[in-house]
Amino acid sequence: MQQKETPTTWLGMSLPEMRDAFLTLGLDGYRDHQMADWLYKKGVTDFAAITNFSLGLRQLLAETGSLGYPEVTRFLASKEDPVWKALLTYDDTAQAECVLMSYSYGNSVCLSTQVGCRMSCLFCASGSGGWQRNLSAGEILAQILILRRLALPQGEGHRVSHLVLMGMGEPLDNFEQVHKALTIANASWGLGISYRNITLSTIGLVPQMEKLRHLKLPLNLSLSLHAPDDTLRHQLVPGATKFSISEVLGALWRYVETTRRRATVEYCLISGVNDSASQARELARLLKGHLVHLNLIPYNPPGSEKAPRSWQRSSLQNTQAFTTILQEAGVTTTLRREMGSDISAACGQLRQMSKSIPAAERKEGS
Ligand code: SAH
Repeated sequence: MQQKETPTTWLGMSLPEMRDAFLTLGLDGYRDHQMADWLYKKGVTDFAAITNFSLGLRQLLAETGSLGYPEVTRFLASKEDPVWKALLTYDDTAQAECVLMSYSYGNSVCLSTQVGCRMSCLFCASGSGGWQRNLSAGEILAQILILRRLALPQGEGHRVSHLVLMGMGEPLDNFEQVHKALTIANASWGLGISYRNITLSTIGLVPQMEKLRHLKLPLNLSLSLHAPDDTLRHQLVPGATKFSISEVLGALWRYVETTRRRATVEYCLISGVNDSASQARELARLLKGHLVHLNLIPYNPPGSEKAPRSWQRSSLQNTQAFTTILQEAGVTTTLRREMGSDISAACGQLRQMSKSIPAAERKEGS
């Protein structure tokens, strides 16, 4: 429950929470639906614009709380692809980034769920500088609303239809707030995004995968595997050391069985590290016969602070050979198309760059 003196933050509240907040202010609870409409359908960024609330009410709302928008510190549009990226700064100076990609089938937003990451994947920039904190449901939803407002023209195409939780952070390490954000993203009073169009990517925290399975949502689950054997996997993904590949894949197949959704396995191809023919055969053995799609991702340097500088993405030849082995074993395999590389669209890279920009060039608070 909200305490009276705590300022109300409207983005990220459930309908009952909004109702309670209005009642606490001595107002009618039915305004919850009106507020939701302004927040998520109209994307209002200022109480002053809520024109069906009286001036007095708008003032009261501004005095007692905020909508919950962070500052947009940088906003970049790719010159190569229909891709936009924003770097956001929250009140406590924590920063997160998000990306909107426009496809023929709709507009997809890639969300960050934490500031920093505790999983410390060697090839990923998100964990560099450590873990700062979880993002709240409202802070996660604000990313969608900001990109929709800045990147999409008003009218027909002004809709985010897909979400991927593949930005900074490990979504299952922030289970409650991520679940709440997705509930609102999905709700008819919220953003109305079908769970079938939402993909949550995880390194495979087994207890949380089970918890997610029990929710029985038709949400797509993507597992970042990156290696076919435990020794290498635990080096590349230190946050996964507690779980063996067989435990993680066991949880993934149970998830598929419960939800009937095809799973995705992600595998970042690093030359000479995890891209040999024998590793491809081992990976095929693990995946074949299951309702799964393998997504190969070319390594995008520089990775984490601990990543060897000599690491490079796999050569085209190795990538092709790797793909062929998987496909011949009957595993549906695709190579991730890279978009927006001119705006450092990979996880954590923009925030990383902003840290290396001299303070004078940065906006206040970044
Ligand atoms: N923590 C979650 C979601 C975020 S990362 C997870 O690990 O699944 C989304 C995907 O991008 C993951 O598969 C991740 O391993 C991959 N990735 C991160 N940094 C990368 C890089 N530098 N090059 C290629 N893929 C990368």
